[in-house]
Amino acid sequence: MDKLARATEILKNAKYAVCLTGAGISTESGIPDFRSDRGYYTNFIPEDALSVGVLESNPQRFYKEGYTILKDLEGKEPNPGHVALAKMQEKGVIHEIITQNIDDLHQAAGAKQVLQVHGDASTARCERCNYREDFKAFDERVQSGEIPPKCPKCGGVMRTNVVLFGDAMPQAFDDAVRATEKADTMIVVGSSLKVMPVAYLPRMVEHLIIINKGTTPYDHNADVIFDGEASPILTELEKRLSE
Ligand SMILES: [Zn+2]
Repeated sequence: MDKLARATEILKNAKYAVCLTGAGISTESGIPDFRSDRGYYTNFIPEDALSVGVLESNPQRFYKEGYTILKDLEGKEPNPGHVALAKMQEKGVIHEIITQNIDDLHQAAGAKQVLQVHGDASTARCERCNYREDFKAFDERVQSGEIPPKCPKCGGVMRTNVVLFGDAMPQAFDDAVRATEKADTMIVVGSSLKVMPVAYLPRMVEHLIIINKGTTPYDHNADVIFDGEASPILTELEKRLSE
């Protein structure tokens, strides 16, 4: 049996399947893998520039260095891999899409239940009262020199809704743990499964399908491994699941 047939069979027989995605699904949309060894992040931005420590102690530096990553996500479009996963979710083959990505491209492709465990780049929030603002409006204030931008409601400090180094994990992570507890099957797409605590999740399921360029620490636990670009594999898998 070929690997696609095996993966199709596992997903068709799954009682409850979830998907976990990482940067690898968005590289085809032109978004660099900012936490990987070869990624943009380590090449261009010093590690602590995206930390909550720098945001609080030296906001001028945060907005000059780490913040540029958030700006680079503007205007990016979902690719066929995001579309295939949204269709698989619509058909009920997979339930929650748990993503380490902050780019909102799953939702842009039509996915509904998306758990963004590292936050999102499309909104900013007040640290005091949790007032939300679109990134665009927030960024206009940053560009005009308002650093850090203040909350229009309570005067507190506004910040990106991305999970920075040093931040606690958001509610979406607890939701992801609960979803994975219900699941017997997980499909991992474009994640090297090295960033904790998200990388613990695949331990909780019985059946594991991994689509990733390069190896992961879970390869020996996986039922099926595809080493390659995500979108051609997901597109074919979605097609077979519809047959
Ligand atoms: Zn506020």
